Amino acid sequence: EQAEQVEQAEQVMAGRAQTLRLVLGDQLNPEYKWFQTADAGIVYVLMEVRQETDYVRHHAQKIIAIFAAMRDFACQLREMGHRVRYVALDDPSNRQSITENLAALIQHYEAQALEWQSPDEWRLDTQLRTWAAAQLVTTQEVDSGHFLTGRDEVARIFSGRKQWLMEHFYRNMRRRYALLMDSGGKPEGGQWNFDADNRKPWPGDPPEPPDARPLHDHRAIWELLQRCGVDSFGDPQATQFRWPLNRREALLCLDAFIEKALPQFGDFEDAMSSKSQRLFHSLLSFALNVKMLSPLEVVRRAEDAYRGGHAPLAAVEGFIRQIAGWREYVRGIYWAHMPGYDAHNALSHTTPLPPWFWSAETRMRCMQHAVGQSLQTAHAHHIQRLMVIGNFALLAGLDPHALHRWYLGVYVDAFEWVELPNTLGMSQRADGGLIATKPYVSSAAYINRMSDYCKGCAYDHKQKLGADACPFNALYWDFFARHEAEFGKNARLGMVYRQLKKMQGPQLEALREQAATAVANLANL
Ligand code: FAD
Ligand code: SF4
Repeated sequence: EQAEQVEQAEQVMAGRAQTLRLVLGDQLNPEYKWFQTADAGIVYVLMEVRQETDYVRHHAQKIIAIFAAMRDFACQLREMGHRVRYVALDDPSNRQSITENLAALIQHYEAQALEWQSPDEWRLDTQLRTWAAAQLVTTQEVDSGHFLTGRDEVARIFSGRKQWLMEHFYRNMRRRYALLMDSGGKPEGGQWNFDADNRKPWPGDPPEPPDARPLHDHRAIWELLQRCGVDSFGDPQATQFRWPLNRREALLCLDAFIEKALPQFGDFEDAMSSKSQRLFHSLLSFALNVKMLSPLEVVRRAEDAYRGGHAPLAAVEGFIRQIAGWREYVRGIYWAHMPGYDAHNALSHTTPLPPWFWSAETRMRCMQHAVGQSLQTAHAHHIQRLMVIGNFALLAGLDPHALHRWYLGVYVDAFEWVELPNTLGMSQRADGGLIATKPYVSSAAYINRMSDYCKGCAYDHKQKLGADACPFNALYWDFFARHEAEFGKNARLGMVYRQLKKMQGPQLEALREQAATAVANLANL
């Protein structure tokens, strides 16, 4: 219906245009400077293309959520008085490539100029720049202004340094934006980091806050994807789901998060539970990454909640660290190291992903929940991504490139600039330790401490050997034994290697054999 409305309006207003402006599916910010005044000589172009549905195999909900938000955005622009050309996936004129469509539209509108906002992915950036260089019309790339830092800033801050520590960057951001700083220029509360306070398991109380995201029926777009033969995975029944369609809805989600979840965000930031998919996380990554919300407004709202006495400092600092720290930092890593960052495989891991990454049919209850939730909702929270799925993949030596494609496809918030450094760098340490000072791995003890997954699991979290032993345990010791050359001298792993030394001999051999059996039998774990 939305697409039809846009089409009708477009036909009414069809005619020549001086300038075309491309709006990508993750540039849905109605407050951007472009949209502040309407100009009949400018046509805004949005397009649904196979190039974007097919560059990796996606979760159906991810494609649907982005298309639905793009359609809504096109309607908003039209209501604001702008001219819009919306090329739907099944539009007969659609050439299914962004640049081929642009070429055809330039001809159609007899346009003299094309403008686009800097894309956030290297893939699109290169495609547009290469194509534009060969065009006769005037082409111009403009800054999207969607982030707190410029593309190259992280590289500048770290130039000449061997290790690019997030903490160093984060403090820089806190000072620069005066975020949680006291009047004397010191960090609020006398500390930069309250992580130590943010590691509690969740006992089930206080209850998980209600989900404020509006429910949308996306059956029409799902039918379109099927009709066009777009290959996808994930729960096909879920044509009704809750990602915000526009800035107005995203702002309501932000309000609800600040009001109901932020006060507990810190305490349970690292917790996992089979009874709650979301706990006290914000679920704002989709809205942030498609630019419905700006990172600055989100962190300022969190800071206001602290200043107004509504949320404790540890929770607010923890939340601001994720957005002003991690999110900007990984983007900087991406731009500093692309192209080529995606090719790293420092630990030479090559084992293919087992089939249950697409079915969740595994007896490991933690993986069943984390993978199952990802397939069902296109979302999992950070600790599920890092300390369950990523942890298992690293311990088992799964191919980091295959894993990267899985993460990029499955999560609704996955765009390469943020997903790749998190998966390949932080989680799989395939970049040789640029981001992570030590590998993010654990045995079952950590998962048992931070979740209720182990209770009721087919495996015993306390056992290291035997058919009932939790696979994480033997895999954990095998991982450090097989990578002693890389990690043996890492000061942060001294205790692990001292313990490993004590286990030398039959004990370690038995563990390594148990681990080898698990890897040989991945599909049936
Ligand atoms: P909250 O826990 O409420 O955090 C608030 C916000 O902080 C998030 O919305 C996000 O914008 C930001 N944030 C938190 N952690 C990170 C981080 N490590 N890097 C960048 N931003 C962060 N995030 C994505 O947005 N897209 C991805 O594709 C993605 N892939 C990931 C892959 C792996 C292996 C790991 C370990 C993490 C990944 N993350 C990714 C980071 C994080 O897991 C998600 O941002 C978060 O789970 C989104 O849910 P939320 O909005 O409820 O987050
Ligand atoms: Fe996961 Fe092992 Fe715990 Fe089972 S026992 S839930 S496999 S950590």
